[in-house]
Amino acid sequence: MNTQATPAAPEAATARRQGPAAAPSIDVHHQIVVVGGGTAGITVAARLGKALKHPDVAVVEPSEAHYYQPMWTLVGAGVFPKERSMRSEASVMPRQATWIKDRVAAIDPDARIVTLEGGKRVGYDYLVVAPGIQIDWGAVKGLPDALGTDGVCSIYDYRQAERTWQMIQDFEGGEAVFTSPSTPIKCGGAPQKIMYLADDAWRKTGVRKRARLTFATAGSVIFGVKGFRETLQRVVERKDIHPRFKHDLIEIRPETKEAVFRVLGEEGKTVLLPYDFLHVSPPMSAPDFIKRSKLAYQEGDLKGWLKVDKHTLQHLDYPNVFGAGDVAGLPTAKTGAAVRKQAPVLVRNLLAVMSGKRLGSEAAAYDGYSSCPLLTGYGKMVLAEFAYGNEPAPSLPIDTTKERYSMYLLKLYGLPFLYWNLMLKGRA
Ligand code: FAD
Repeated sequence: MNTQATPAAPEAATARRQGPAAAPSIDVHHQIVVVGGGTAGITVAARLGKALKHPDVAVVEPSEAHYYQPMWTLVGAGVFPKERSMRSEASVMPRQATWIKDRVAAIDPDARIVTLEGGKRVGYDYLVVAPGIQIDWGAVKGLPDALGTDGVCSIYDYRQAERTWQMIQDFEGGEAVFTSPSTPIKCGGAPQKIMYLADDAWRKTGVRKRARLTFATAGSVIFGVKGFRETLQRVVERKDIHPRFKHDLIEIRPETKEAVFRVLGEEGKTVLLPYDFLHVSPPMSAPDFIKRSKLAYQEGDLKGWLKVDKHTLQHLDYPNVFGAGDVAGLPTAKTGAAVRKQAPVLVRNLLAVMSGKRLGSEAAAYDGYSSCPLLTGYGKMVLAEFAYGNEPAPSLPIDTTKERYSMYLLKLYGLPFLYWNLMLKGRA
């Protein structure tokens, strides 16, 4: 850590010369600042800590806790207690990194300053942007008050995931509705996984005979990747689940137990579905401070998301800025599995830029890899792996479009091990 700016890399120096005449004051300076100490931030910081001889890397992260969010589906289905998905942030922070325990309020990429909510200004030469995705609970009218009460639940939150399992157990039959929104979300398969597990749980107790299950999704197909789509269509038919496509949840009326959907493609048309149990996958967007910054796309389909090159992960306007994880404006599914493939690419390219190179054809390239472990019941899983263009990208020597017990075990034990012991330590 320095209280003065270190000599900047060539590109950094050029940008400074072009910047404002009087440099704004800073409270502290780090050569590399990582915004967010979640999956992407910690994985990247760990790799930088290993690769650099004298790392001066700071991670800005306000939370005392670090979550393995993929486990929340299993928490919602009663397989694991929620505590199993959480460790202290201190325990995952790479030893070579400085932890700045605060929240970023704003980023000025021209001045190379990150302003914290506590008021401090942190200068940087290089920036890694990884603050994840923002959950917009308030974008569905009535949801913030209804959540966690009277049959309304969601696995998209640590505490609510546990409540979800309570509500699955309390359900005595009637209308069970599971939603999936029109915005990009983290783990697009999760809204279905919890539905298949709930179906299975209700079959075990006999409640399923008295229940009707609806999957109300803003999407127009059950899953975007061929091969897996067919498998999931068969699962939905076998389980007698009623899909309703192009249905986007806009309001919950807890007093009458109705969910209101706008029908996409049919201007002004809304549909009311009664519910006794309602699992909500909420709308999401890039964090507000990213949307407001010069680092975000200002228009187009990716408006608001971090403007990075889809292969190099370097910012398209600021060569000393890189991004990874859910915040990145990349045309692929937002998952931790994607982060695992992005992190080594980002680090290699950042190191190249730090050594004064321009990223050309020899740059490391991310191919859009993402994966979705689709639980289709207790003891069954399909592993969807794909890259840009929804092209299948299998990494295992077996047909993972089939429901398998071995894949279920991978989800329960293999992937969490990989996460805590290898990925966050910069080893995988
Ligand atoms: P996160 O891991 O969310 O980290 C973002 C960090 O940034 C957080 O620690 C946050 O506190 C911090 N932050 C936020 N704002 C600021 C700020 N202003 N300043 C500083 N720090 C800030 N992925 C899979 O691969 N497989 C799965 O099966 C899977 N299932 C999932 C199921 C559920 C229910 C959920 C919720 C997610 C699932 N995911 C899954 C997705 C996976 O967890 C995310 O894609 C992954 O965590 C993204 O990493 P990230 O670093 O971008 O964001």
